[in-house]
Amino acid sequence: MKPLIRQPHLNNHERPFMIIWETTQACDLACRHCRAEARSDPDPRSLTFEQGKRLLDQAQSFGKPSPIFIFTGGDPFKRKDIFDLVSYASEIGLAAAVSPSGTPLLNRENLLKLQEAGTKAISLSIDASTPERHDDFRQVPGSFALTVNGWRVAREIGLKLQVNTTVTRYNLTDLAQLFKLVQELGSMTWSLFFLVPTGRGLQTDEISPAEYEAVMHFLYDVSKYISAKTTEGHHYKRIVLQRSILEDKGLPVEEYVNLHPIYYQLKRELEQIVTDKGLQPSPMIKRTPMHINAGNGFVFVSHLGDVFPSGFMPVGAGNVKEQSLVEIYRHAPLFQMLRDPKQLEGRCGLCEFSGVCSGSRSRAYAMTGDPMAEEPFCTYEPGSFPFQKELAERLAAL
Ligand code: SF4
Repeated sequence: MKPLIRQPHLNNHERPFMIIWETTQACDLACRHCRAEARSDPDPRSLTFEQGKRLLDQAQSFGKPSPIFIFTGGDPFKRKDIFDLVSYASEIGLAAAVSPSGTPLLNRENLLKLQEAGTKAISLSIDASTPERHDDFRQVPGSFALTVNGWRVAREIGLKLQVNTTVTRYNLTDLAQLFKLVQELGSMTWSLFFLVPTGRGLQTDEISPAEYEAVMHFLYDVSKYISAKTTEGHHYKRIVLQRSILEDKGLPVEEYVNLHPIYYQLKRELEQIVTDKGLQPSPMIKRTPMHINAGNGFVFVSHLGDVFPSGFMPVGAGNVKEQSLVEIYRHAPLFQMLRDPKQLEGRCGLCEFSGVCSGSRSRAYAMTGDPMAEEPFCTYEPGSFPFQKELAERLAAL
């Protein structure tokens, strides 16, 4: 049986599992929640082609197997040299993926060029199940149609595809319909991103901690039908463990967890959709979450070359123009602190799930200014799950 939580095979202290490079801030969308606070023109101080190649060399020097390297933005298609950069990444053995925006640049020609350059996977963002709602969120008419078209082309030409949805107050009640869309169009993974109030992402757009919990339980149900995961929703790993123990004991979740009514609304809709489509649940969730976190298996490089633990924790630990990414990742005090579980504070410091969860360090920083503070949006009280023996056995088996 697959372990319920995947731990990276390699030492997180030595190398990240994933490197994300914000190739440019330029983008033709103006999304309400944009982390990058994207603008239409590129910043003239952005890393040049040669500096980008040096960054790719640094990523490769972490050693084999190389970290996954994601080209993001802004919109990477706004860089004229994106295909050459991706091609260079492939040439030196990096597994490259790209996150383009839903604009006219997301077309068959560009997707084929990306594939030719060596990209195996892309990710696209969709935030609502209807064009009106999605375009309102992205603030550009036509973005939904362009994204869905890119989605179809990517599938047709054989690119792996991850679909990302930012969960906010605006689409909370639309999540079951979004599941239906993802199931119909098909994707490798559906990733629900839980807003961190940075960039244009406002704290007022966030759903409440109880709604987070409800959405994560819904995601667990969805994961029996499609491969799904969270981004900046680390306590989903706790929910996966809790739910699997309850399931094995044949106990209903509603008797053990006090869930927000939105869970039952989404669950009812999900049940209707799977009945209408005749879908059968798999006995176990299709995708088990990976335990990586900001600065701990994960590193972000800004368009200027500044190195951050994540794109949602804009605290610089060095710059790749002056120092190697390898050195910053391994030795910067901020990164070392983030990898030290003894420095976790509040409930996260006391929690029996912290070895597989540790909460969103980015959200802790965004909301308190302290990257080691307890996850502000987790409702769990350490020690309160009634089946501690079973939990300890599962944690020991990971
Ligand atoms: S208290 Fe912290 S470590 Fe425990 S489940 Fe919540 S976020 Fe995770």
